[in-house]
Amino acid sequence: GTKQHVQRLEKLDQWVAEWRSDAEKGRCASYIPALKRVNPAQLGICIIEPTGKMTVSGDWEAPFTLQSISKVISLIAACCHHGIPYVLERVDVEPTGDAFNSIIRLEMHKPGKPFNPMINAGAITVASLLPGKSEQKLAYANRIFQKLTGTLPLVNEEVFRSEWTTSHRNRALSHYLKDTGFLECEVEEALEVYLKLCSIEVDSQQIALIGLILALDGFHPLLQEQILPKQVVRLAKALMLTCGMYDASGKFAAHVGLPAKSGVSGGIMTMVPPKQNAASHFPDGCGIGLFGPAIDECGNSVAGVSLLKHIAQEWDLSIF
Ligand code: GLN
Repeated sequence: GTKQHVQRLEKLDQWVAEWRSDAEKGRCASYIPALKRVNPAQLGICIIEPTGKMTVSGDWEAPFTLQSISKVISLIAACCHHGIPYVLERVDVEPTGDAFNSIIRLEMHKPGKPFNPMINAGAITVASLLPGKSEQKLAYANRIFQKLTGTLPLVNEEVFRSEWTTSHRNRALSHYLKDTGFLECEVEEALEVYLKLCSIEVDSQQIALIGLILALDGFHPLLQEQILPKQVVRLAKALMLTCGMYDASGKFAAHVGLPAKSGVSGGIMTMVPPKQNAASHFPDGCGIGLFGPAIDECGNSVAGVSLLKHIAQEWDLSIF
């Protein structure tokens, strides 16, 4: 009850204070000019349970952009529209071990099919599969975001412009995908949709709520309604577990043991599925949203990953 909640809050405050300094081991993403200007010492976390109860600490209300966390939403959107088989014909479900924006394997993996929807090549392809012209594509993905969070998505125009004008690598990837026939629309259209979804501004509470709904296989516990198809959510979670933390996904699975998706803005969306073991602190499951903008070479929040490792161990959260 209340006493347990207070104890949890105290612990969380203590751990956030303890791991905040880990940010010094990383730095804010600098290849997107607007992200460079963020205070790297922030660290915040929000945990939401199916009852709506929240356990929060640190800079949990700080805004940040979704970046790669949006890849989960666009994958879900594309699968809802086309069905899973159509999407998987155009993007594979294998981890790469390469950086999220890597180009190298696209040409090695004949005929150029992107390895998975959690890396840029795959996510740009997925964005191109959304129905209609760029405006409709965005509207379709935005509706999924709205269903999940209850709020209209707001694009941070500064971050979008900043990336739109500097996204040479993503443009290169997109042209390659167009050449090999995997892009189902024009290059600039797919890029605009992909980058606008990356630039949606959120806070850790919103991504914790999305995480919670994914933990419950698409069931929204506050609305008491199945809002997404179970199979689509399971696919998304499998990809989060195997590819969601990029080339550190194996380590994350080993040391934290939860499906998760990170973004270069320093956000991490993760979740604990219900009733996995008696010792778990969250037998009914929970969604977890984290924000810590200093990232490591793989593009994951340094303090965020450290904090999650600690929490997962202390509260016995691993799914394995
Ligand atoms: N918008 C970023 C990019 O395309 C997203 C990457 C990320 O969050 N890892 O480079």
